[in-house]
Amino acid sequence: MRVGIIGGGAAGMMAAVNIKLLNNNIDVTIHEKNQRPGKKILATGNGRCNYTNSDIDVKYYHSKDENLKKILQDFDFEKCIEFFKSIGIEPINKNSYIYPMSEQASSILNALELKIRELSVKVISESNIVDIEYSKCIKLKSKDRSYTYDSVLISCGGLAGLELNYNDSLYPVLKKQTYKIVKPLSALCPVVPFEIKRLKKTEGVRVKSKVALYINDSLYSTEFGELQFSKNYLSGIVIFQLSRHISRALDEGQKVELGIDFLPSVHDKLDFFTKRHKILKNYTWKDFGNGLINNKLWEELLSELKLDMNALVKVQEIKKIVSKVSDCKYLIKESAGFLRAQVSTGGVALSDVNLKTMESSFQKNIYFAGEVLDVDGICGGYNLHWAWASGYLAAKSISG
Ligand SMILES: Cc1cc2nc3c(=O)[nH]c(=O)nc-3n(C[C@H](O)[C@H](O)[C@H](O)COP(=O)(O)OP(=O)(O)OC[C@H]3O[C@@H](n4cnc5c(N)ncnc54)[C@H](O)[C@@H]3O)c2cc1C
Repeated sequence: MRVGIIGGGAAGMMAAVNIKLLNNNIDVTIHEKNQRPGKKILATGNGRCNYTNSDIDVKYYHSKDENLKKILQDFDFEKCIEFFKSIGIEPINKNSYIYPMSEQASSILNALELKIRELSVKVISESNIVDIEYSKCIKLKSKDRSYTYDSVLISCGGLAGLELNYNDSLYPVLKKQTYKIVKPLSALCPVVPFEIKRLKKTEGVRVKSKVALYINDSLYSTEFGELQFSKNYLSGIVIFQLSRHISRALDEGQKVELGIDFLPSVHDKLDFFTKRHKILKNYTWKDFGNGLINNKLWEELLSELKLDMNALVKVQEIKKIVSKVSDCKYLIKESAGFLRAQVSTGGVALSDVNLKTMESSFQKNIYFAGEVLDVDGICGGYNLHWAWASGYLAAKSISG
């Protein structure tokens, strides 16, 4: 049997290795459009590859299909660790985020490549598949060649981290074959406020915050974590976790606003600031924030409130700053786009795939795995875990 894999990323490589481990007589070929498979893995986890999480659960994914739960139970945290140990990767656990002990993403890619070579998986690099012809056999077409297979795994990933637009991806080809494509949008990414100039003075500031997401003026979700200001974006893990909802809402033309609590550990802020004023009598506004909040951020908040930094704090003005630090509003224009995103939300609809096998629900011998599907998880190793788990299940089904 000949199996063709479109895309030598995390899911494709995982599937290739496991097909061969389960049945070494199967002829497996990976088509990878880049010079080397797995390029994206090198960029993951800031170059350290957060490849799974010790708390794998369907609740950390935005697609709540019952079968997803089963896939994650069959390839759970222990199974993932066991697999990677079997190819030489020892884990290190940092607050449930799992990295290779070497703390090098290249270790994960090397380990997969070594295994692929050992198992004689063929890799055709710079082979960009641009069409799929489906009949008794399945033909994969690149610009100048075509290849015939008995089964094909589509693991070409999504659009995140790439300068690739939808029309250059495989999605239009899949759409032509009548797959339902949930519009891919960027997720786990920074967002752009309308008033970018408000970020100018706070560039580089990191602050533990509670961020409330308002869609059409209604509270949609709240996240707690580090917020980072960059020149043109609001970023940091707290924004990443909200970004998929932001992208979807903006795409639907809804009003998106963030309300940031810069002092989430202070519950009664009015009482807190009033008492602080009693202690710090005759302090200027500038000095009143010293030791409490990042000074660049404090100065920006004061200037937005038009409070003179060199004037003495007046008790009757305290309410203004309380309201500002509790719920500082940013109206959001757009999410930062695919190049700055870690994952895409959307993709091939799960209703078109049998999630017990990963086989297409209407094209026999066509399988799917990884980010090309409409599954995305939160930060913390969940997206790679999905790629491994779905690649593993596809391999089991393909190898029969
Ligand atoms: C900067 C960054 C950091 C990240 N960090 C983490 C992290 O720490 N932890 C985590 O869990 N997730 C992380 N992710 C997300 C994670 O990398 C992806 O979810 C995961 O790689 C998806 O695996 P995949 O195999 O489905 O797709 P990909 O890894 O994208 O692989 C798809 C492969 O298919 C190839 N391809 C595409 N189209 C074709 C075609 N037509 N013909 C031939 N080949 C094709 C691509 O070149 C690519 O090699 C990060 C992503 C980015 C961008």
